[in-house]
Amino acid sequence: MKHDSSSRAPRTRRDVTFAGSAAGPSQFPAERLPEVAFLGRSNVGKSSLLNALAGTHSLARVSSAPGRTRLVNFFRVSGAEKPGGRGRGDLYLVDLPGYGYAKASREVRESFEQLAVSYLAGREPLRLCVFIVDARHDHGERDETLRSWLEHHGLPWVLAINKIDALNRDEAKRRLASLQAGLGRGAQAVLPVSAERGTGIGELWNVIRGAAFAVPGPGVALGAARGQDGR
Ligand code: GDP
Repeated sequence: MKHDSSSRAPRTRRDVTFAGSAAGPSQFPAERLPEVAFLGRSNVGKSSLLNALAGTHSLARVSSAPGRTRLVNFFRVSGAEKPGGRGRGDLYLVDLPGYGYAKASREVRESFEQLAVSYLAGREPLRLCVFIVDARHDHGERDETLRSWLEHHGLPWVLAINKIDALNRDEAKRRLASLQAGLGRGAQAVLPVSAERGTGIGELWNVIRGAAFAVPGPGVALGAARGQDGR
């Protein structure tokens, strides 16, 4: 029997709209709203996860439209509830180009990476990276490279293990433990989720809004991890 296969969590509809795509830093939004980036190899369910967070089935279809998979896509969340009853605020969910396309030429693959790096390396409003993996597959060298890269740059990140519905309870437990000790080391959280079933989406959303609207100050992991200049 598959893990949680009989239940489907109700979707919470959030006010999320496609705000545009960027082919380079000059096209990133000028407005300084907090940003949370999504990254992972192609087919891990990044679009499905964005849809699940938005509570719709159609939002991230935009980002999988021909041509847009190679761009950075910005989705604006309006009126997100800040933690601790501190009112509401807006943020961007940022869909970075997926990596590891088996069919892409080396040149194309490198251009995806350059764009993702141009965003990740210097994006002042970036508050959190959501690194997505597929629960069914062992991770590869490129996932490890991304993990080291995030750590090296002191970027705050969480590991989302998507498609957890495809594993039974024991398998899911084993996968979680092995990712916590392996690819997820250094992550602020390792979260089993299912974009399809809605499992863990509420928890992921809480982590996202917690990071986006964190009150800066001593003890906040972001400030500590990213150094004096606030990056
Ligand atoms: P992307 O390339 O990372 O944007 O991935 P997609 O969102 O297009 O999803 C890739 C495939 O994985 C599709 O066939 C989805 O239906 C499937 N998928 C996505 N999320 C889940 C999930 O939570 N559980 C299962 N079982 N399949 C999923």
